[in-house]
Amino acid sequence: MDLFEYQGKEFFASYNMPTSDGVAVTSVDAAVEAATQLGTPVMVKAQVHTGGRGKAGGVKFAADLDAVCTHATNILGLNIRGHIVEHLWIEKASDIAEEYYASFTLDRSAKKHLGMLSAEGGVEIEAVAERNPDAIAKIWVDPVTGLDAQQCRQWVLAAKLNPEVTDQTVDLLLKLYRAYTDGDADLVEINPLIVTPSGKVHVLDAKVTLDANADFRQNLAPYDVTQPRDAREAAAHAKGLQYVGLEGSVGLIANGAGLAMSTVDVVNQVGGQPANFLDIGGGADADVMTGAMEVINNDPNVKAIFINIFGGITRCDEVANGIIEAVKRVHITSPIVIRLDGTNSAIAWKLLDPYLGDRLILSSTMLEGARLAVDLAKGNSR
Ligand code: GDP
Ligand code: MG
Repeated sequence: MDLFEYQGKEFFASYNMPTSDGVAVTSVDAAVEAATQLGTPVMVKAQVHTGGRGKAGGVKFAADLDAVCTHATNILGLNIRGHIVEHLWIEKASDIAEEYYASFTLDRSAKKHLGMLSAEGGVEIEAVAERNPDAIAKIWVDPVTGLDAQQCRQWVLAAKLNPEVTDQTVDLLLKLYRAYTDGDADLVEINPLIVTPSGKVHVLDAKVTLDANADFRQNLAPYDVTQPRDAREAAAHAKGLQYVGLEGSVGLIANGAGLAMSTVDVVNQVGGQPANFLDIGGGADADVMTGAMEVINNDPNVKAIFINIFGGITRCDEVANGIIEAVKRVHITSPIVIRLDGTNSAIAWKLLDPYLGDRLILSSTMLEGARLAVDLAKGNSR
């Protein structure tokens, strides 16, 4: 789960890392009020789940309240790499002497945490890696033993930062590592990590991705409510479905992320376009199936529905009951092609039999089912 910069900074601040005071707002008036309260100069910063906001005109310095008003007006609603700006972060402006880069993420192949530190911050780290890879000091941390102060100091020295800020940087990186591990993050990145003219190390930008599966021990609810979702995604999320909205006309329901992705692929392969990715998970029952059908049915782009289930833990008869329930409860506007195989499939076929016709069609294979659904979505009848 990606956090906005301001949420990332709150997350870092909760681990005692130095961040700037600021206020998150959603309107120009609130931006001006926030700047009044903080005192100018301030930075007006677009809050979107993508980097490179500065280059796109989404990060502006405002010397006075008039400038806050102008920048807030320009930035709200701005499209930054496909993300529309709805939130601004108004933060007390900092003076910058140096810009560094620091991050932790998981290196899966090494089965260790990877820390990266560079004196060349403020620009994209990929660019530094290409131009001057030696400028990035890397450390691999064993997740069992963790990062100790001595190791961390060696790493900071290897990055050749200003020697005057070595102690502060070591302290900050130990806190960053703790935030990363205790906070169940997949990524923590500070770019830039600045040194002020008075020699203080300070967090100026924050990119944080938290592991949504850690919800049971972290309080992710405040981050969850600000996740950008379209109406379809919001409805699916409310029903606890794994759903991603796409642009096509074939609504898909599958069980298991692997099968759901294969279904997306096979629909593309036979010349169609999926309207969504939807994984109803293992062990899905009739209620889950009905919920999934409702979400798909409410998508006006959907012209045909393809249900692709391979029963393992999921029982095909449960799924069949869900389909029957949904067809009775909801007015399904599109024809449905069903491929149901695996546990209890024979029972499922028998259950579905009385309902089969032009609008509800059983298919014996995934490929044939996809072909048929794509054909129906294109407006051809059987
Ligand atoms: P990004 O472009 O999405 O990475 O957004 P950042 O938060 O990193 O801001 C982009 C750039 O704006 C930074 O690299 C800084 O150079 C500059 N910037 C951000 N905040 C401040 C500030 O408080 N004072 C000054 N002088 N520059 C800032
Ligand atoms: Mg940045």
